[in-house]
Amino acid sequence: MAKIYHDGDADLEILKERTIGVIGYGNQGRAQSLNMRDSGLRVTVGNRDDEYKDRAIQDGFDAQPIEAVARASNVILMLIPDEVQPEVCERQIRPHLRAGDALCFASGYNIHCRRIIPPKDVDVIMTAPRMIGQGVRNLYQQGAGFPCLIGVHQDASGRALDLALALAKAIGATRLGAFHSSFEEETLIDLFAEQMLWPGIIKLCTLYFERLVENGCDPDIVATELHLSGEFVEVARAMITEGFFKQLRLHSHTSQYGQLSRAERMAPKALLRQIDKAMEEIRSGAFAREWAAEQERGCPGLQGLTRKALEHPLNAAEERLASLKDAMARVYIHRGINNATPRPRNRQY
Ligand code: NDP
Repeated sequence: MAKIYHDGDADLEILKERTIGVIGYGNQGRAQSLNMRDSGLRVTVGNRDDEYKDRAIQDGFDAQPIEAVARASNVILMLIPDEVQPEVCERQIRPHLRAGDALCFASGYNIHCRRIIPPKDVDVIMTAPRMIGQGVRNLYQQGAGFPCLIGVHQDASGRALDLALALAKAIGATRLGAFHSSFEEETLIDLFAEQMLWPGIIKLCTLYFERLVENGCDPDIVATELHLSGEFVEVARAMITEGFFKQLRLHSHTSQYGQLSRAERMAPKALLRQIDKAMEEIRSGAFAREWAAEQERGCPGLQGLTRKALEHPLNAAEERLASLKDAMARVYIHRGINNATPRPRNRQY
């Protein structure tokens, strides 16, 4: 059974004695900075000189160059994309780390995959929200919390866990519950979802579309049924409110029988081999090496895969159904947690 920490398990005092620097003001950086400030902490934001920095200043933060923040802070939250963290950390953070400082990550990836190896005399901790940045902020403002994984990779000060707990409380996670986890576990669950669960969903959805169209169905009607009607979201919502399997009782008996009987035969050996391969590549570090090499080449593989995905006929159906898509988007933007102001820009490879 997982150990779950709540507000009463964490004390913000340990952070009030420290200088907190947040590196990055994107998804998580903005949400966590605002939440920590609203929790009574003083936060400085480190960012390059561009619109993210302007946004931090508009939000009332003291925003400085990354190196200046690293020099002045003794608790440093790394809230820039995972793929740029190793270089930024090596060049702009590491030279300014002193014994007893703390480095905090929102993902286990770079530490577990040894893409960042911090000096031994600093605390290395993780507070990893299981929530997008906008949700982290919106739920905090609503007085609610969100799930979060915390972990300690290095405890140089002897107080690393207290620090991780205090950060989890300051961003609002312990209101709901922060799970005691590790950098390794966070990496596994995150990458395995990205490399097994979501690919499976993408593949099954596109096969559903392709086979129905091959069998004479109208692509626009299939696309509407597949995702634009919102049924997909409603089922996912019911999995949370009713239970993963218990929500089946909201479906007809025909549907229940069809879903459960066919799920039994959906794991042929070839699929299981792919699932095991994905796990092995994550555990051995082969995926981390493959992704690092891909980035060094400038991401031609990712660009090609993205192009291929955007050429799928499902996109053409969505374009024809633009007004339905906009109407449904409005329904879900109003009902969801994802209704904060949009990010300044999307990062594309
Ligand atoms: P974002 O993509 O939103 O980060 C954008 C920020 O990073 C901006 O401030 C941007 O500033 C800065 N940045 C980007 N590239 C560089 C660079 N080369 N040098 C310096 N600064 C740079 O990141 P996320 O918030 O999505 O992710 C941050 C961390 O949180 C990651 O570890 C991620 O795994 C984790 N996480 C993310 C979640 C999410 O909701 N996305 C959920 C849970 C955890 P600039 O204008 O200078 O480019």
